[in-house]
Amino acid sequence: MGTINFTSASKTYPGATGVRALDDVNFSIGEGEFVALLGPSGCGKSTLLNLVAGFEDLTEGSMTFNDHAVTRPGPDRGVVFQEASLLPWLSVWENVVFGPQVQKIAKSDYEPRAREMLKIVGLENFHAALPVQLSGGMRQRVGIARALVMQPKALLMDEPFGALDAQTRLSMQQLLLDVWQTLKTTVLFVTHDIDEAILLADRVCVMTARPGRITRDIPITLRRPRSIDDLTSSDFTQFKAMIMAEMRGAHDNH
Ligand code: ADP
Ligand code: MG
Repeated sequence: MGTINFTSASKTYPGATGVRALDDVNFSIGEGEFVALLGPSGCGKSTLLNLVAGFEDLTEGSMTFNDHAVTRPGPDRGVVFQEASLLPWLSVWENVVFGPQVQKIAKSDYEPRAREMLKIVGLENFHAALPVQLSGGMRQRVGIARALVMQPKALLMDEPFGALDAQTRLSMQQLLLDVWQTLKTTVLFVTHDIDEAILLADRVCVMTARPGRITRDIPITLRRPRSIDDLTSSDFTQFKAMIMAEMRGAHDNH
């Protein structure tokens, strides 16, 4: 199970400025669903993801993961950030098996899975490489393998491809589509890129700032399996036009 539920959830950061990052958010993600949270910088996307991850606390309302209030991070929620922040002195393999080792999972259990996940992300020939020897895209692949090896119930991805060049970004989007098609894990994917949101997600939730709210929840009915070739299809273009109009409307009302 990997269900996420926000009910009348608000978050105000403490301190003199007291930014209200989320305001009365009602939002849920079902088991195995891929949901993209789309919005401009500063609208509260990371705040929402960090609540699910257990890095932040709500100010009002409730937020549950698998019907339980989240109080701390846990191996049932894998997190992938814009920078993979790998341990630089460890090899690719050692980085991926680090989490299971810390959790004291049996070697016979995690080793085959680590091999499988590194294969899924196309790094089967890079077990011995150090992070410094990898490209940005490869480091993000290690980050994804490292999250998946824990068999999380949900994958929380915060602009994971935001620092990559356009071409690498496309190949990572294709990789994620393929990985998701195989594993069907629940995914919360934060992005400010409209194309990326539509291409990947079952639903695109549009967020606006001040106050941080989800203003639209749009099902993306493009057939699966998908590929980056879908970016140029007419169905895709229709979704894009609809979402751009929505975002423009939100901006004009601001
Ligand atoms: P996004 O990920 O969409 O760019 P964030 O969730 O990072 O947005 O930020 C939402 C708002 O909350 C912004 O105004 C930001 O400045 C503020 N904010 C984020 N993190 C903190 C923090 N730790 N303390 C105070 N304000 C914060
Ligand atoms: Mg952010």
